[in-house]
Amino acid sequence: MRVLLVEDDERIVNFVQRGLKAEGYAVEVARSGLEAVALGAEGKFQVIILDLGLPDLNGRQVCERLRNGGIHTPILMLTARDTVQDKVTGLRSGADDYMTKPFAFEELLARIEVLMRRRGAGGETKPETKELQIADLILNGETHEVRRGDTLIELTPKEFSLLECLMRTPGKVLSRTRILEQVWGYSSDPLTNVVDVYIRQLRRKIDDDYELKLLKTVRGFGYKLDAS
Ligand code: CA
Repeated sequence: MRVLLVEDDERIVNFVQRGLKAEGYAVEVARSGLEAVALGAEGKFQVIILDLGLPDLNGRQVCERLRNGGIHTPILMLTARDTVQDKVTGLRSGADDYMTKPFAFEELLARIEVLMRRRGAGGETKPETKELQIADLILNGETHEVRRGDTLIELTPKEFSLLECLMRTPGKVLSRTRILEQVWGYSSDPLTNVVDVYIRQLRRKIDDDYELKLLKTVRGFGYKLDAS
């Protein structure tokens, strides 16, 4: 997954670049608006993180130029100011989401993931994974069907989103907070045990009747799906 980071502040570049690389993203950096337009126009990124304040063109202009050029890559705009006007003009210029500096890296990550899931209207971006599979557990993103072997498993929409979230990162432990952000949105619900409740329901449906258990609890950390 390729991310274009457009930012002229080296501290933020370092912080974001390091964090995203650790999460497995390939990051390219543009330090000016013109460079961003040139790189963004190649259409090879899944997400563009775009700072509003740049030395030449500002983030809004970059956004407009890309959109006018037919580039629909999801854009997450960053700004130092938190005003409604900034937010409105940012979104009107074609950005998909908006975040105020300073921000927590976890929030940036959650927003990138949401943007990547939401894309699809875009022409040059890759379509969503149609099917995810771990062992004999298969989730179809188009028909919204879940099967284990030949058995069709009925899930509620939230259970489906939770399973999809876990299946996208097989073997990787996701914390309750991450799951909450990805499945329930960013609303920081202090009652993260909603995650535990849903995990229990999901486990009953996908694992209880089978010898090979896929949904694992990693005590003190969170949950993961794997076939080992
Ligand atoms: Ca800046």
